[in-house]
Amino acid sequence: MSALGAKQPPRAEPPIVPQAAPGLRVARHREAIDAAIARAIASGQFILGAGGEAFEVEFARFLGAPFVIGVNSGTDALSLALLALGVEPGDEVILPALTAAGTAVAVRRIGAIARFVDVEPATRGIDPAAFASAISSRTAAVIVVHLHGTPALLPEILRIAAARGLAVVEDCAHAHGATIDGRIVGTLGDAAAFSFYPTKNLGALGDAGAVAVHTRDHAERIRRLRNYGQDDARICVYDGMNSRLDEIQAATLRVLLPHLAADNALRQTHARRYDEALAPLVALGRVNLPRPSPGAVYHQYAIEVVDRDRIRQALRTRGIATAIHYAPGLHRHPGLIGDAAPPNCTVTDRLADTLLSLPIQPELMENQSRIVAALIDALSSGPPCEPLR
Ligand SMILES: *Cc1c(COP(=O)(O)O)cnc(C)c1O
Repeated sequence: MSALGAKQPPRAEPPIVPQAAPGLRVARHREAIDAAIARAIASGQFILGAGGEAFEVEFARFLGAPFVIGVNSGTDALSLALLALGVEPGDEVILPALTAAGTAVAVRRIGAIARFVDVEPATRGIDPAAFASAISSRTAAVIVVHLHGTPALLPEILRIAAARGLAVVEDCAHAHGATIDGRIVGTLGDAAAFSFYPTKNLGALGDAGAVAVHTRDHAERIRRLRNYGQDDARICVYDGMNSRLDEIQAATLRVLLPHLAADNALRQTHARRYDEALAPLVALGRVNLPRPSPGAVYHQYAIEVVDRDRIRQALRTRGIATAIHYAPGLHRHPGLIGDAAPPNCTVTDRLADTLLSLPIQPELMENQSRIVAALIDALSSGPPCEPLR
């Protein structure tokens, strides 16, 4: 065979750095997860067994919450929290427009009305003034989302809600372990919902979630609601649903929970490195960074850039994947607002157009200098990014 006829080997491309890779976290703990799942299988009890109960106790201890109930997803956790707090069909629930679809789906699925309001630029969480002016005689509750793991302005929201007699649910799907003035989120409102979707700071091998509440009464109600609304005698005392945490997911979560705090600390370290490395670009007005927040756990590290498509493409060419969380705002999704005109949410619109989530998962951050170099390269030209005030 002539060497001339041989195919040239493809030019070596640098491996793509994914934006999220839950498989890498599982790989890091694979042996322990395999052993835990083997024990769950050997137990012969696959739903509502000892592993699920143990996880509820351990996660409650992590949070310092009196009661935790394992459920099937973060969306279900939000619905069950609202139901336990007495939200009824036709009631209005106020929520930020800049969040994952699950936050709104959870409201609508129990027959409540989702009222979207704007976020504020410092935390990218619900704007207390927008919340206050959206309250009506039909408002029953507000959902506070700690977006990207940055605590929202919860103390302000709690003050307004208390004065108006409204329930407060924390959506902690991004914020396992985040704190406000040293107090852990998920214990500050009337109830909190957690998602263990695989990419979250604490993630399972499938769908899973949990609700944290303060009273035995609320906990008991959620335990029944998640299991067809049945009491111990298997009488349906509530109009319930099927939303139980299975033993395979509980076994996985019990392996990963003890590593959550250290992983969050790594996310914070990597966030500070991004802050420092990108500061010159901020000075040049090319990018806005998430405002540093001491209790944030950086589920995402999302920068704001004006010509996002170009930056994404430039990074992709250099082997760096990015993601957008979230666009457009939920106040513009036809399945959530129907034929109504979208409410006015200008900060959400601006963030939805400019946010870009960089890799921040600890398992990916050996690539951080490569990511930073690619960003500096891409952002050294292009239009300026005015900070939002
Ligand atoms: C992931 C997520 C949810 C929904 O959680 P699921 O487990 O996917 O149902 C709700 N709110 C926010 C902010 C989320 O990121």
